[in-house]
Amino acid sequence: MPEQSADTTHEAALREAVIHAGLETNRRGLNQGTSGNISVRHGDGMLITPSGIPYEALQPDDLVQVDGDGHWTGDRKPSSEWHFHRAILQARPELGAVIHVHSLHASVVAIQGLDIPALHYMIAAAGGNSIRCAPYATFGTEALSQLAVEALQDRTACLLANHGMIATGPDLERALWLAGEVELLAQQYVLSLQIGGPRLLDDAEMERVLEKFRHYGPQRGGD
Ligand code: 13P
Ligand code: ZN
Repeated sequence: MPEQSADTTHEAALREAVIHAGLETNRRGLNQGTSGNISVRHGDGMLITPSGIPYEALQPDDLVQVDGDGHWTGDRKPSSEWHFHRAILQARPELGAVIHVHSLHASVVAIQGLDIPALHYMIAAAGGNSIRCAPYATFGTEALSQLAVEALQDRTACLLANHGMIATGPDLERALWLAGEVELLAQQYVLSLQIGGPRLLDDAEMERVLEKFRHYGPQRGGD
């Protein structure tokens, strides 16, 4: 198969996968309307959802290729959050996908400007013993982009104050899974605050959990 054709097929599959991930955020109760945005690494930049179009209405051609230098072509504007999508993918070569949603409980915790602490061992799914909340900055700004990259230091998810959350992963499926886990942890946090506050796991226990997470999964060879 000529190289050009293989690239085209790969890009077409990525476009379909981003739309599928967007529809899944809605179906899983993580997002609605024109909130949220999704990117996947492609070329020296990314393919990203367009601004202001609900996922239900998206066609593959609506996705926008934003190059590493921030340029794009085509009829559609990229998501207003293209700055943080690009900054995260550039800062973190191990990541391939970024999902931003305004899911209810993550947004409620972010409205309080709170980090999610080690209230459940699953906090380790985001890479550490907390999920940080980035300080507030206006949506779509470079300032928000910098704060998000900082909050994601040694983590794969963060909250955005008075806004929502970002979940990342090596691919879209993993980022989608993590978005659901972060929303559940935020819900557990909100509920536990109502019955006296969470009893947290200490750092030594979280070290053990993080170590186990390095081998966790269906593959043989870990426990
Ligand atoms: P876009 O429609 O521009 O992606 O904006 C949605 C959003 O969530 C901004 O933070
Ligand atoms: Zn948003």
